[in-house]
Amino acid sequence: MDARRTIEAAAVALAERAVAAARQLTQDGQALDDHQVVVERVAYAATEARVIADLAAAPDEVAELAGAAIAELAASIPHRLAPVAPALGLALGYDAAASAAIAEGVAPAVLERIGAAAIEARGRLAWPLDETLAEVRTNVRAFAEREVVPHAEHIHRHDELVPERVISEMAKLGYFGLSIPEAYGGHELGNLAMILTTEELSRASLAAAGSLITRPEILAKALLAGGSEAQKQAWLPRLASGEIMAAISVTEPNTGSDVAAVACRAEPTDGGWLISGQKAWCTFAGRADVIALLARTGDTPGAKGLTLFIVDKPRFLGHDFAATQPGGGTLTGKADRTPGYRGMHSFGLAFDRWFVPDAQLVGGEAGIGRGFALQMAGFAAGRLQTGGRACGLAQAAVEQTAQYVAERVQFGKPIGAFGLTRYHLGRMVSRLIAARAITYAAATAMDGDERAAAPLAAMAKLFACDVAVEVTQLGQLLHGGWGYAEEYPISRYVADAQVLPIFEGVKPILTLKVVGRSLMSPRG
Ligand SMILES: Cc1cc2nc3c(=O)[nH]c(=O)nc-3n(C[C@H](O)[C@H](O)[C@H](O)COP(=O)(O)OP(=O)(O)OC[C@H]3O[C@@H](n4cnc5c(N)ncnc54)[C@H](O)[C@@H]3O)c2cc1C
Repeated sequence: MDARRTIEAAAVALAERAVAAARQLTQDGQALDDHQVVVERVAYAATEARVIADLAAAPDEVAELAGAAIAELAASIPHRLAPVAPALGLALGYDAAASAAIAEGVAPAVLERIGAAAIEARGRLAWPLDETLAEVRTNVRAFAEREVVPHAEHIHRHDELVPERVISEMAKLGYFGLSIPEAYGGHELGNLAMILTTEELSRASLAAAGSLITRPEILAKALLAGGSEAQKQAWLPRLASGEIMAAISVTEPNTGSDVAAVACRAEPTDGGWLISGQKAWCTFAGRADVIALLARTGDTPGAKGLTLFIVDKPRFLGHDFAATQPGGGTLTGKADRTPGYRGMHSFGLAFDRWFVPDAQLVGGEAGIGRGFALQMAGFAAGRLQTGGRACGLAQAAVEQTAQYVAERVQFGKPIGAFGLTRYHLGRMVSRLIAARAITYAAATAMDGDERAAAPLAAMAKLFACDVAVEVTQLGQLLHGGWGYAEEYPISRYVADAQVLPIFEGVKPILTLKVVGRSLMSPRG
C-alpha cells in the first residue's frame, strides 16, 4: 500500500473510533449540548479525516502535494482529540507503519521542496480537469483578469459597490446559471463548474466578483427544493440570466445562530403578506432586486413557524436607502462598515408593513412553516459555494506570496531562497490543495443527492475557510511589514478572509450543530 493510503487508513479509523465514542457519550446526539467541546473536537477531526480521504483519491499529478497535506492532517488529528480523549475513553496514536509514513510526510525537506517549486511556478498550482471544466477555468480566469483585477483594489479601499459592468458581463457569460437545470434556463454544467468559476472570480476579488454567485445559488437551491412549479418557472430563468440579483435575509439584530428564533413577522393581508421587523447583515440588499427573507407566520413557535418569501424591492447603489410602497409599506437599509468584504455592502434592514404578494411565498400554501427547511437547503449550496470562494482567495495569497518572496532580497538573497520561507510557502500550498480536494469532492457529491451531500458541503466550508484565513495570514507574514500596507493585495486578502468563517453558520456553530450533529446522528 502506498504511504498516502497507509496514512488514510489509520487516520480515518481513528476518526471513526472518535465519532463512535462521541455518539455513545451524546446518546446519538441527543445530549450534544452537554458535551459541546467533545463534539466540536470530534467533528473537526472527522472533517480532517474526510479531507485526507479526498486527498488520497486526488489525481496523480498532485500526488506529492497531496501526500504532504495528508501527513500534516493526520499528525494534527491526535492533537485535536487529545483534550477530549479521556472523556471518550479513546486511545490516540497510530500503528508503526502509519507513524513512519506520517513522519516522512511532514519532514521539512518535503515542504521546502514544495515551497521551492511553488516559487518557481509563481504559485500557479495545477489541478487536472477534463476538457470542458479546464475550458471553464481558463475562460473565467481571462474574464477575471480583464474585468475584475483592475478594479479590485479601488473597490476595497473606497468601499465601493461591485461595478455594474462586472454583473452584466458575468450575466452575459452565463455565470449565474451554471448549476441551474436547463429546463429552468440554466446551463446545468454542474457544481464543479460553478466552484471553478467562483474560485477564479474570488482569486481576483472575493468581494468584487467572487461572492456574486452565492446569493443566486442559495435562492435557486431553495426554490428547487420547495418552490411550486410556477415559481420555479418564474424565478429560476431570471436568476440564471442575471436579470435579477438576490439578497438573503435570515439574520436579525437579536437572532444569529439560533435561526429558529427569527422574529421578523409576515401577517396575512388581501392578496399577500405584510412584513414587519428588523433584519441584520443582509449582504447586497441595496443593489438586489429581491430579498429571500425568512419570516415568522402564525403563532407556531420555533422553526416550524417560519416561512420563506421572495420580497421585491427597488435597486439602490449607496450605503443606505429608503423605499415606500404605494400602499404605505416602508423599507429602510443602512450598510454596516466592515474592514473587508467591501464591494458587497451588508445592510441592517427595517421592514414596516412591506407588501409581498401571495405568489411570492415559496412553496405557496404548502410552504407555510417550511421556510426553515428550505433555507437550510439553500445554505447547503451557499456553503459549497463558499468553499470555492475560500480556495480562490487562498490561491491568490499563494500567488502573491510566491511572487513576493522571489523578488524581496534580505541578507543578500531573495527571501525565497531561505529554507524557512520555502517551508512556510510549502505549507500554504499543501493547505490549499487540501481545501481544494474536499471542496471539489463536495461539489461532485452535490450533483447527486443534495440532501445526503449537505454535511460534506458544510465540512468543505468549515475546512476551506480556515485554510483561507491561515494561508492569507502566513502570506502576510512572508511579506513582512509590507504585508500590512494597503498597497499590497495580501493585506486585502487577510481582511477579506476573516469574514469567511463567520457567515453561513459561524464556525463554532457550523462545527457543532451542522457537522457535529450529522455525525452524531445514527444515520450520520
Ligand atoms: C459581512 C457579513 C455578511 C453577512 N451576510 C449575511 C447575509 O447576507 N444574510 C444573513 O442572513 N446573514 C448574514 N450574515 C450574518 C451571519 O450569518 C451571522 O453573523 C452568523 O450566522 C452568526 O450570527 P451572530 O453574528 O448573531 O452570532 P451569534 O449567534 O451571537 O454567535 C456568536 C458566538 O456565540 C457562540 N454561540 C452562539 N450560540 C452558541 C451555542 N448554542 N453553543 C455554543 N456557542 C454558541 C459562538 O461562539 C458564536 O461564534 C453576515 C455576517 C457578516 C459579518
